[in-house]
Amino acid sequence: MINYESHFRSSIDRLKAEGRYRVFNDLERKAGSFPLALSHITGRTVTVWCSNDYLGMGQHPKVITAMAEAIGRLGAGAGGTRNISGTHHAVVTLENTLAELHKKEAALVFTSGYVANETSLGTLCAMLPDCIIYSDECNHNSMIVGIRNSRAEKHIFRHNDVNHLESLLKTADPARPKVIAFESVYSMDGDISPIKAFCGLADTYNAITYLDEVHAVGMYGGRGAGVAEREGIMHRVTVIQGTLGKAYGVMGGYIAGSRALVDMIRSYAPGFIFTTALPPALAAGATASIRHLMESDDERNRQRYSVRVTREMLEKAGLPVMPTDSHILPVLVADPVLCKQASDMLLEQFDIYVQPINYPTVPRGTERLRITPNPCHTHEMMMELTRALVWVFERLGIRADVEKLREVA
Ligand SMILES: *Cc1c(COP(=O)(O)O)cnc(C)c1O
Repeated sequence: MINYESHFRSSIDRLKAEGRYRVFNDLERKAGSFPLALSHITGRTVTVWCSNDYLGMGQHPKVITAMAEAIGRLGAGAGGTRNISGTHHAVVTLENTLAELHKKEAALVFTSGYVANETSLGTLCAMLPDCIIYSDECNHNSMIVGIRNSRAEKHIFRHNDVNHLESLLKTADPARPKVIAFESVYSMDGDISPIKAFCGLADTYNAITYLDEVHAVGMYGGRGAGVAEREGIMHRVTVIQGTLGKAYGVMGGYIAGSRALVDMIRSYAPGFIFTTALPPALAAGATASIRHLMESDDERNRQRYSVRVTREMLEKAGLPVMPTDSHILPVLVADPVLCKQASDMLLEQFDIYVQPINYPTVPRGTERLRITPNPCHTHEMMMELTRALVWVFERLGIRADVEKLREVA
């Protein structure tokens, strides 16, 4: 008979043996002094270099004020699912704002970007009769799980590979409905997809497109609507999905699209229907953040400056920064144990916090430190990061070769 506890323990031991057991830093972020935070692991103040609060909106006065005001006026929770008393005015306002942001007829809010992908793709691909789904091989787990749950016929195309996707579309029955699912900014490599070319294929083969802009909303385009806005092709994308938890600094997820599509998801998606609505304070904070970033380029410009300067410093120091088109700077280690050790050393010796990124988040052999400069990082912090990384890489004998990685890829 199974010994439950020893089974649980041995499954953990396997991860530890591979060097990819996850240890969380216990952080206390300090509003107003981000990217500094108190680490309850070391008991000291650390500089955070791996946050997805890309623009520091989590501590923006407008966001904090909106949330505090909403809590005081409207209370803590939503009090119900969307259908049963939980559709409060703040979440309706947020949905209207998101539709306006993406210039779509409608938008729908979920409790996270994960849920938005999982339940929207799951429902969309299940509702379309005899649907075929085409999914980029590097798509996020939330998309993969949604697609799997839909039980639709699935084809995986090579990462950002327009020709491969076309060869798959070509061989399919033209009469069957087709969905192409992909991301704009891939967050672990920092590369950007050929959105326009994928939309072109969608037109040719009568498919619809589902674009995850989670790492791009707030960050790209004149109003922060994402890469599709920057390229002037937002109107050609059928569904735009995003999060309120990364650049917008709060929490929640959404889709934006046509009225009929959004109404179908609203009416059929279990991950939307059977769960309590986002609290008013989160909705109000997210709306304030989106509105601010629709008008202000300041955070985006300062963030871009931080990324450029940090990249230059790291490259000049000879560190293996992977080439990217975006705001994400992956520094290659290419070994899970060394990656964790490097992260531990940065924390213990230098009060620098960069989480190691290991399998299954990235392929084995491409383990890395993923650095995300934000507008609040100072020149001193960048220099300190560079010095610390050089010291740690020398100490641990890390000689990851970015060129080699490219050959393999
Ligand atoms: C983080 C992430 C999500 C999930 O968004 P959350 O709001 O954090 O749940 C979805 N897609 C991608 C590509 C992500 O990186």
